[in-house]
Amino acid sequence: MLSLDETNIRASFVNASRKEVTDLSLPDGFPDLDWERLDYLGWRDRRIARRAYLVIPTGEPDGAVVGVVLRQAEAAPRSRAQCLWCQDVRLPNDVVFYSAKRAGEAGRKGDTVGTLVCAEFQCSDNVRKALPMAYLGFDVDAAREERIATLRTRAAGFAAVVLHGS
Ligand SMILES: [Zn+2]
Repeated sequence: MLSLDETNIRASFVNASRKEVTDLSLPDGFPDLDWERLDYLGWRDRRIARRAYLVIPTGEPDGAVVGVVLRQAEAAPRSRAQCLWCQDVRLPNDVVFYSAKRAGEAGRKGDTVGTLVCAEFQCSDNVRKALPMAYLGFDVDAAREERIATLRTRAAGFAAVVLHGS
């Protein structure tokens, strides 16, 4: 994704109160983020329990992003779960339920959207890891590109649901 500065990020949130945006702390190592290797930006707030944030490119050529405040659900998935976004079959990390208030009127009425995603938002790393060779002639690079494209579509799809509903 294209790099963003703090102003862009704070301005991107569609489902946050003014106080939530003010209270937000940027991810650790923010100045050194490798944006080219990120399909979306996701991080947990180091000061507020169960609070996390996403900044998701919508896929438009102008580089528009949608910021979403998340809350981690109290309930953990029953078994080791697969992330709905990167769909990594090796289950390399914890995956948890997050919920987001819908944007606008729907959110004010208490409407939320849930998703099951890597607890520390490792999806971009996961889709770039080399897959085991499936068969002779398996195109590893093409498979990786496809995984990256799928992740981007899923992230943008979640942002669209927060914004406009399903
Ligand atoms: Zn994931």
